[in-house]
Amino acid sequence: MTDTLTPVLSADWGNERAWTLEAYKQTGGYSALEKALTMAPDDLIALVKNSGLRGRGGAGFPTGMKWSFIPQDPETEAGRKPKYLVVNADESEPGTCKDTPLMMATPHTLIEGAIIAAHAIRAKHAFIYVRGELLHVVRRLRAAAREAYDAGYLGHDILGSGIDLELIIHAGAGAYICGEETALLDSLEGRRGQPRLRPPFPAVAGLYASPTVVNNVESIASVPAIVKNGIEWFGSMGTEKSKGFTLYSLSGHVKRPGQYEAPLGITLRQVLELGGGMRDGSELKFWTPGGSSTPILTVEHLDIPLDYEGVGSAGSMLGTKALQVFDQTTSVVRCVLRWTEFYKHESCGKCTPCREGTWWLVQTLQRLDEGKGREGDIELLVDLCENILGRAFCALGDGATSPITSAIHYFREEFEAGMYAPSREAFPPEASVLFARQTVGGVA
Ligand code: SF4
Repeated sequence: MTDTLTPVLSADWGNERAWTLEAYKQTGGYSALEKALTMAPDDLIALVKNSGLRGRGGAGFPTGMKWSFIPQDPETEAGRKPKYLVVNADESEPGTCKDTPLMMATPHTLIEGAIIAAHAIRAKHAFIYVRGELLHVVRRLRAAAREAYDAGYLGHDILGSGIDLELIIHAGAGAYICGEETALLDSLEGRRGQPRLRPPFPAVAGLYASPTVVNNVESIASVPAIVKNGIEWFGSMGTEKSKGFTLYSLSGHVKRPGQYEAPLGITLRQVLELGGGMRDGSELKFWTPGGSSTPILTVEHLDIPLDYEGVGSAGSMLGTKALQVFDQTTSVVRCVLRWTEFYKHESCGKCTPCREGTWWLVQTLQRLDEGKGREGDIELLVDLCENILGRAFCALGDGATSPITSAIHYFREEFEAGMYAPSREAFPPEASVLFARQTVGGVA
């Protein structure tokens, strides 16, 4: 594994005009598209498949394999239907903040990747579904799309290749659940965003009941570099099963929170070094490897490889690579309560275990946070989690239980203390507020 990297995705983030087409082309922008347009779609799919690129949105599913699931046989009904590419830019997981700076800094990287991906799956329409609150991102992407249309990279007969593509930048209405791909598709179709029953999977019956690929922003933005530089180059970074570079979002009680691009398989210790280490006086207490829905880890996991396998073997998930780092001033109970309040609020209400369960989880955690816990509350929390995990309709329910069960596993004594004393006595909120204020204005 390589532990150093010449930035790829974030290489031009220091240039405040990097979002313009002019600046993007000066650094070789759209040369990958020119190459891709000379390639057969199936060859492009094979290239991305062989590169080992895995989805950067959380699940880590191989991107090229996802593209290969799109039925192309004109003898079948599904093969005759229009194909769609949908880019999932509904970034909302607490702690996850990598796609937003990417789209703001270099939107053309994403647009170029989307055109290449659409060519590979033979789609004539592509959508970028942006989280509703991110109006500035929507404006930036729309401005970039206009530039791309004017330059002949979008629209009819792209660069004289005979290939057409319309790109729609769609603003969601602000719902975490719309990051779930089938809820996103419902929302894109104009309905209330709620997960769909699978099968059928989107590859067969997605947007408008047609074959659809849904990929994360970072996954699609990684494609131009792979097309341009080849699979050996991509495979020279990362680990055997988790290849390439990625963005780690470092936040919390660290000196320099921000986005850090590094090969997959780097450790938290190394990312912390890149971020200047913990704040003065701070000691690492616990952290999330991939956002608030991934089981928390502790100081004993500082040296596990941050790739899909390494984090999995430590009992958690790589998720979105959102490294939220907490020090000794943080109450685990209060932190988990805040996350659970988020999941309760964002529960779409479709299934009972999640809709009712997250409400009860909040009630119980609130009692423990206030020092009014009852005998059996910890067992109640575990029981509630067990009744949500695997019984909820989508991953939101499962994800809501992860921080609770892992926190009880590592910090049971803090939950037990909640029977007798408010967590604010052991962890005065003032300390955390002070840190939060200091964090504002952190640099990447
Ligand atoms: Fe909706 Fe939660 Fe059920 Fe998912 S798990 S379908 S978010 S209620």
